[in-house]
Amino acid sequence: MSARERYGLTRVINARGTYTPLGVSRSSAGVREAVDEALADFYVMDELQSAASRVISGFSGAEAGAVVHCASAGITLAIAATMTGTREEYVAQLPDSTGMKDSVVLPAGHAVDYGHPIVQDIRLAGARPVLAGTVEHCAIDRLAKSLDAESVACLLLVSSRLVRGEPISLGAAVAQAHQRRLPVIIDGAAQDMRVDELLATGADLVIVSAQKYLGAPTAGLVIGSRDLVAAVRAQEKGIGRSMKATKEGILGALAAIRDRERFELRTWRRQEERKVSEFARRADRIPGIRARVVPDPAGMPISRVELSVDGDRVGVSAVQAADVLRTGNPPIYVMEEKARVGILTLELVPLDGDELGVVLERLSELANAR
Ligand SMILES: *Cc1c(COP(=O)(O)O)cnc(C)c1O
Repeated sequence: MSARERYGLTRVINARGTYTPLGVSRSSAGVREAVDEALADFYVMDELQSAASRVISGFSGAEAGAVVHCASAGITLAIAATMTGTREEYVAQLPDSTGMKDSVVLPAGHAVDYGHPIVQDIRLAGARPVLAGTVEHCAIDRLAKSLDAESVACLLLVSSRLVRGEPISLGAAVAQAHQRRLPVIIDGAAQDMRVDELLATGADLVIVSAQKYLGAPTAGLVIGSRDLVAAVRAQEKGIGRSMKATKEGILGALAAIRDRERFELRTWRRQEERKVSEFARRADRIPGIRARVVPDPAGMPISRVELSVDGDRVGVSAVQAADVLRTGNPPIYVMEEKARVGILTLELVPLDGDELGVVLERLSELANAR
């Protein structure tokens, strides 16, 4: 009996991307085997983390790496690391930051909500978020002015659909912080395929979720300088206790990295492009729906399908169509950011042929309902 049957859990079709409330991603058989092996045995966790560091270095070219509970934990622990270094009494003292520098500067447009406010990740370390500029605009010299004697680090976000305002050059921001001898942490979120590029900005630590496109169990990768990674690991005896990586998380993440290293990006992209264009071609034949293939605006090597819903012909608006899809059986989740302007966006990466068929069928039913 499946868990779904036993507990009466809903089958969902996730065309919304690496979405945390739906379980994020699907893992490969290799990753699942690694988790199974991990759960059956004991390990010296410190050894496991050192092995993880070697694998992450090999994968990213960075000096060191560590696995933590998730990317959110990674942000908190990276900030804690900049505050305490490896000083044991400081590590044990957090989140009380008495005697430590505690201001973490970030451009106001990077103070996103990815399911919770990112500034809370800063506060959890006992630090104080300081927003530079306005949500619409943060010039580099505005950011530079906010970096003062109280500052302990600068936090930046990879460009994504969450970041607001005019884009800011990550490289220029890193240079400003480094001029003031301040470390820079970049939240790379789901964009594990762009780790090289993010490290090339000069950032001291880059954090990505392992369970998003990498397809690992829930885990966060903290990647960067040897000293700061050591300071992240030092938090295991402090606030990091409640954000620790599990043995199955570490071994699952390492298996996912091995998958990625063996993975032929070009072949995968060709298959994905075929899947996406075939889906778009069939969706475009549905009366009242226009489909087009769009690249990921943040530069990940994936395409999505945008469906323009002609409310007059379909009989419902895009907002209502998303509602109908989500509340039907099985529920279908799509990206709704542009629903107000008549567009639904679908990410097809994790979907199999049967699921794509169900999505097309439900779109046809919707269009033929009036
Ligand atoms: C998903 C996400 C995170 C957190 O990832 P978890 O691994 O779920 O903690 C952090 N930042 C951004 C921008 C995200 O999208």
